[in-house]
Amino acid sequence: VSGAELLRVEEQDARDVIPARRADTHKGTYGHVLVVAGSPGKTGAAAMVALSALRSGVGLVTVATRAEALPWVMAHSPEIMGIALPGEGPLGKGDLEALKSALEGKDALVMGPGIPRGPETGALIGDLLAAVDVPAVLDADALNAVAEDLTVLRRAKGPVLLTPHPGEMARLWGRTTKDVQQHRVGVALNMATSLNVTVVLKGSRTLIAEPGGRVFINPTGNAGMATGGTGDVLSGVCGALLAQGIKLPKAAWTAVYAHGLAGDLAAKRRGLMGLIATDLLEDLGAVWVRWG
Ligand code: AMP
Ligand code: MG
Repeated sequence: VSGAELLRVEEQDARDVIPARRADTHKGTYGHVLVVAGSPGKTGAAAMVALSALRSGVGLVTVATRAEALPWVMAHSPEIMGIALPGEGPLGKGDLEALKSALEGKDALVMGPGIPRGPETGALIGDLLAAVDVPAVLDADALNAVAEDLTVLRRAKGPVLLTPHPGEMARLWGRTTKDVQQHRVGVALNMATSLNVTVVLKGSRTLIAEPGGRVFINPTGNAGMATGGTGDVLSGVCGALLAQGIKLPKAAWTAVYAHGLAGDLAAKRRGLMGLIATDLLEDLGAVWVRWG
């Protein structure tokens, strides 16, 4: 796209974004992420978001999900805290008050992976983002929900990050996945600018677009990451960096670089065939060691 500046994310730049962990700090220093994710049959998605946030330096993580799904999410790891959302079925306007109170004292929101989506979910997301001034990452079914009326995003009080894969971007943009892939830079930049949000358009050579200008291209990652759950891990890394006070778009391109590098390290251990999403949780640690 003419006029778009395409910048390659370099490892040193991403590394410089991660602050050194000072000795005289405590868990409150590193923020608290609220993860709205999961439903029966998709509790692993919520667990992967929560665990990747925990593996990315955040102080605390709470998952808000329907009561029937919550124990299964929490059973994945004792570090995960939980809030049961009263009610049943798809997330809708009836969940607004519970989510607003769950967000009190939180430093970032990650919403979408595995959520039960229905006709009111997009409106709920709009109302929630209009009510709270917290950085928010929307992924997966949160993106599919807002695709029905993208204008709800313009009401957001805090900074918003969208992390669509090409299929989700096609739904957001109202075109085919093939069209998205043929115009990746222009689509990411137009969406970022028209909605005033940061956009991560995932896939081979993930793009990160900021409203009104720069588009970053990420060199890390591999085809072994084309497996269920790797996107959930990315949204957790993004939420963790935002909760630690790192601003957009820096938090987004740093998370994308680190996530892809974790994938490259995981592929060395597992092979492109053997790699699964939870491997990335372990290799994120290797990234932070390398950058330490
Ligand atoms: P999702 O489709 O939401 O699970 O996200 C998949 C994640 O894996 C994203 O971070 C993608 O960028 C990454 N990924 C998937 N396929 C590839 C690929 N062929 N090369 C590099 N990264 C990939
Ligand atoms: Mg996904």
